[in-house]
Amino acid sequence: MGLLHLGTPLTWDEAKQYADHVREHGIIQFLHTWDRVKDRCGDELLWGDEVEYMVIILDDETKNAKLSLRQTEILQELRMAKGDFTDDNTPASMTAPTFHPEYGRYMLESTPGSPYTGSIQDLLSVEINMHYRRTLARKHLRANEIPFTFTSFPRLGTPGVFTEPHFSPNNAKSSHSLFLPDEIMSLHPRFPTFTTNLRSRRGSKVAINVPIFIDERTPRPFVDPTIPWHRSIYSEDSEAKNGAALNDHIYMDTVGFGMGCCCLQLTFQSCNVDEARRMYDALVPVAPIMLALTAASPVWRGYLADVDCRWNAIASSADDRTPEERGLKPSKNNTIIPKSRYDSVDLYISNDWTNKPEYNDGPVPYNGTIFRRLLNDDIDELLAKHISHLFIRDPLIIFSEAIHQDDTTSNHHFETIQSCNWQTLRFKPPPPNSEIGWRVEFRSMEVQMTDFENAAFAVFIVLLSRAILAFNLNFYIPISKVDANMGRAQMRDAARSGKFYFRKIVLPPGHTSPIISIPSSCGSCSPVQWSRGATAKEKKLRNCFPSIPRPPYVEDGPIEDEYEEMTVEEIFVGKAGSKFPGLLGVVEAYIETLDVSVGDRLQINKYLELIPVLGSLQTPATWIRNFVRSHPSYKFDSAVIQEVNYDLMVAVDEIERGVRRVPELLPEDYVPSNGRHSGTT
Ligand code: ADP
Ligand code: MG
Ligand code: MG
Ligand code: MG
Ligand code: MG
Ligand code: MG
Repeated sequence: MGLLHLGTPLTWDEAKQYADHVREHGIIQFLHTWDRVKDRCGDELLWGDEVEYMVIILDDETKNAKLSLRQTEILQELRMAKGDFTDDNTPASMTAPTFHPEYGRYMLESTPGSPYTGSIQDLLSVEINMHYRRTLARKHLRANEIPFTFTSFPRLGTPGVFTEPHFSPNNAKSSHSLFLPDEIMSLHPRFPTFTTNLRSRRGSKVAINVPIFIDERTPRPFVDPTIPWHRSIYSEDSEAKNGAALNDHIYMDTVGFGMGCCCLQLTFQSCNVDEARRMYDALVPVAPIMLALTAASPVWRGYLADVDCRWNAIASSADDRTPEERGLKPSKNNTIIPKSRYDSVDLYISNDWTNKPEYNDGPVPYNGTIFRRLLNDDIDELLAKHISHLFIRDPLIIFSEAIHQDDTTSNHHFETIQSCNWQTLRFKPPPPNSEIGWRVEFRSMEVQMTDFENAAFAVFIVLLSRAILAFNLNFYIPISKVDANMGRAQMRDAARSGKFYFRKIVLPPGHTSPIISIPSSCGSCSPVQWSRGATAKEKKLRNCFPSIPRPPYVEDGPIEDEYEEMTVEEIFVGKAGSKFPGLLGVVEAYIETLDVSVGDRLQINKYLELIPVLGSLQTPATWIRNFVRSHPSYKFDSAVIQEVNYDLMVAVDEIERGVRRVPELLPEDYVPSNGRHSGTT
């Protein structure tokens, strides 16, 4: 959970004096945690999702869709509504959900009130749970406000009115943005502090340049007429004309454009730390594939983009590196940092024999002092690298009240660094004073427009994570190839026409199909601890699967022979004539080991069948792009005008409510969550 303590935030000039203090105590805190939980074993699978919403007002009179800036009031209402169950069909087992603030003052995040267990019943309740949360949010909004699960708001930062109430960007004292008023930000001090301190540390505003989609009548070169090129209120106003804004790109200049996007995240608890590290690694190469498949953000600041995803925009939006760190100015002691603090994973961290050193082939700058300190305290080299890599970042958000902590009982400073490293996966140590075990968070996916889709991706990933552990699947490819896949995932139509590096042989040596006899426990903990009495034929998804030791006969070929380029469809269903069973293949094999009823199996299949490339389904990004391009008011000049955006959001709301049929996006027999509300319990 992000740090949302209230207090007095330090300016960057103040905060930087405490940077080493925060890092030093953050590491001491981590070491205390490590001592406490390094041998912890036997935690069952608990897991949960995070769904983000933007609250939008559809103004029928002006034909405008506007972001409603009422986060504070809405969250207040939802807090008071805790336990206010809205529907007689809501299962009694469902606890009151939690709503959190997010960066945008138009955003909400919801999580289930308590994590799901590994039971099949919980697996099949995810969609109902999501739907319940949406219904609850809807109920506590004004009549004209709607919670959308939509990744990037198409007209954020356009001239004219895109928020309710309307504010001018000319008073953007935190961000100095040409486009976004400060009122776009959550009132929680964390967010304006981050925004201001990021700009101060970097020494300029961020420069986000998303390539524009060149349509039939897009002027070339495209020089954006909506940029106030000659504004001179803040010293940074000249950055746009002095090179920050690129031609043929959609230029954006502050955190809000990235952190104001919505996404879908999943967190899984592991049996023990080694299992968490194995799962983290296995999901690293899966992250870009799922980004491609969930692509949902083809419009930025009023223009169609030539990409389908949010990732690079959000990475640039949170990029606090100095010019020296970005390699733009010579630096004294080689301080180049290749990536933003928001970007894909740089390092595999498992000590399993399958993780060969050659896979970690990218640059991983790390804090040498912290690295040595960790090694001295008996942290192994890979974990020490991982932590000291996170700790190259400065703390941007420090509250004066929180500078001094009891390092034996607090993880505050550790989390200050950890939770402002936004990578595709997050390795989460157990917090102090809680029952929570080692967890892994999967963070690459874009949020989908319906609960059905979001639940489908959640169900798929949790099943895949079980298949990975149960069958000892090996997904390793060099990190440099995962990085290449991140770039490819964002390209237009990547889910259908893109190719991605993926491992050819994922089963353990000597196996030609997923192993059906799954070992009963990791050997370090009693099976009773995790299975709560489940028998060999599992009735629930679980963790606690031992890894297979390195067989003596394994021959190592060149790394380059281990992977090849595949389409997303091949990655999911396997490649004809190859030994690769596909991600769906291994998930199906895992389901075979479970004791699921025919009815439950049909429901699971509905989710798995959503994988769009398998049928003729489109990603949300493709659908949105087609919607814009076939709108009668679209002029084929890349511009997504107010009226088109309004009609788009009306359509999205109708899709979500099941009023509008979109067979190109959802299965023919799709029934919205409310229509199935009681049927699946
Ligand atoms: P953050 O914002 O830091 O990523 P949140 O608290 O918003 O984290 O969400 C964490 C998710 O993890 C929620 O879906 C929650 O239900 C789930 N969760 C809570 N406890 C556990 C646990 N012990 N193991 C796995 N997941 C958990
Ligand atoms: Mg969260
Ligand atoms: Mg968070
Ligand atoms: Mg969030
Ligand atoms: Mg999260
Ligand atoms: Mg789809």
